[in-house]
Amino acid sequence: MGVDIAVDAAPHDRFAESRASIAAHLEEGTLTAAPEQPLEASRRVPRDPPPTLSAGGIEATALESAATAKNLDDLRAELARFEGCGLKATATRLVFGDGNPGADVMFVGEAPGADEDRQGVPFVGRAGQLLDKMLASIRLDRSKVYIANVVPWRPPGNRTPTPLETAACLPFTRRQIALVDPKILVCLGAAAAQTLLGGKEGIMRLRGRWLTYTAAGKEIRAIAMLHPAYLLRQPAQKKLAWQDLRMLAKEINRLQLFAKANGERDGT
Ligand code: URA
Repeated sequence: MGVDIAVDAAPHDRFAESRASIAAHLEEGTLTAAPEQPLEASRRVPRDPPPTLSAGGIEATALESAATAKNLDDLRAELARFEGCGLKATATRLVFGDGNPGADVMFVGEAPGADEDRQGVPFVGRAGQLLDKMLASIRLDRSKVYIANVVPWRPPGNRTPTPLETAACLPFTRRQIALVDPKILVCLGAAAAQTLLGGKEGIMRLRGRWLTYTAAGKEIRAIAMLHPAYLLRQPAQKKLAWQDLRMLAKEINRLQLFAKANGERDGT
């Protein structure tokens, strides 16, 4: 049935609550009941169709809204106002980003899970704890990197976001990357890699080499890695993740970002 979180100890009948509230308003006279219409008449008088937007319209709205954001706080506010992604209706919270907004290394995952949805912070569940260990293995932590997802609302039951949902959120993700302006972009899992780096190649083909993320004429070094949730299911693949982490650490050293990450940009 799609129920996977217990939010209270006792069940609530929200339909009964709203019936009771309508009845109370009717009694107070603050709400008037619609006059009954004969079936034929109500059929003849069509209601206004709900405002709908085509997929192109949603993307255009998202682009416009994301472009107005001058900083990450603006972008979070724009995203909170955005009604073009159906996942917002079923999610508990917007899961925007975490870590150091001035970081030179940005990680992007797929979409929040149940723990992230409850806390409003990306990668705080089991996969997130593994990600923290992966970061620690190359002397990084959340004060030195920035973390986000391609979709900021949890898909019900942790299903993969649909292409439409991803496309609706993509202008915001791209703007988030532009505002953080990292030197290195790390895509966690195939969904993030395919969405941000293009193409349909699987993660096993994408990982293990340097790629390029392009936005507004600017090129950013990018790498795709196995998603920590996948590594939890397939621990034997951690050796591949370790190879990728070593590649990442080498590049961070080559670009001399560790020095920066250790002090200059986070003010420690
Ligand atoms: N998986 C993701 O891709 N993102 C999260 O935030 C958590 C789990």
